Amino acid sequence: MYSSHHAAVGAALTVGGHLAAGPVGVLVGGALAFLSHDPVDRLGEAAYGRSFPPDRQTLIWEGLPFLAFILAAVLAGPLWWVLATGWIAATGMDLIDKARWFMGRPTVFRCHDRAPDVRLTLWQTKALAVLAAPVPFGLVAVIANAGAAGQLLATFAAICLGAVAGVAFMFWLLTRPGGGL
Ligand SMILES: [Zn+2]
Repeated sequence: MYSSHHAAVGAALTVGGHLAAGPVGVLVGGALAFLSHDPVDRLGEAAYGRSFPPDRQTLIWEGLPFLAFILAAVLAGPLWWVLATGWIAATGMDLIDKARWFMGRPTVFRCHDRAPDVRLTLWQTKALAVLAAPVPFGLVAVIANAGAAGQLLATFAAICLGAVAGVAFMFWLLTRPGGGL
C-alpha cells in the first residue's frame, strides 16, 4: 500500500502507545507500527500513476496526505515526534526495501515478495487515502488535549480510521484464499 495508508495505521499505534504508557508506549507502538506494514501490504494498491519519478497523479495523491501528516505533526507541538515515529516505523519496510532497490539489491521483507491477497481498484485505493489523510489530525487532537473542536475532529478521525480498518478487514475476509465468509 501507499505511505498515507501505512502512516494512518502507524500513527494510531504510536499515539495509542503514548496515551497508554507515555514514551515507553511509543516504543511499543512503534514496534507494532513497523510490524503492521506486512498485514497492510496484503492489500495491493492500484497505482495512482508512475511512482518513480512520480508523475502528477502520484504527487497529488501521495503528496497531499503527506503534507497533511506533516501539518498534523507541527500542530502536535512538543509531541510531534510521536507522529513522526509512527510514520517512519509504519513505512520502514518500504524505506528499507526501496533503498535496497536503488542499490540494485534484492528486497528483504516477504510482503514485497508476494502477491497481495487483495487487489484494490484505483477508486478503492483513493477512497482509502481520503479516509487515511484526516486521521493524524484527529490523533493530534487526542494527544494535545484539544478543546471541543479538537474532540470533534478526533471523533471524525476515529470514524475514518475505523472505516479504513473495517473496509480492509472486509476485503480480506471476502477475498482471502479459500475465502468467503
Ligand atoms: Zn510495502
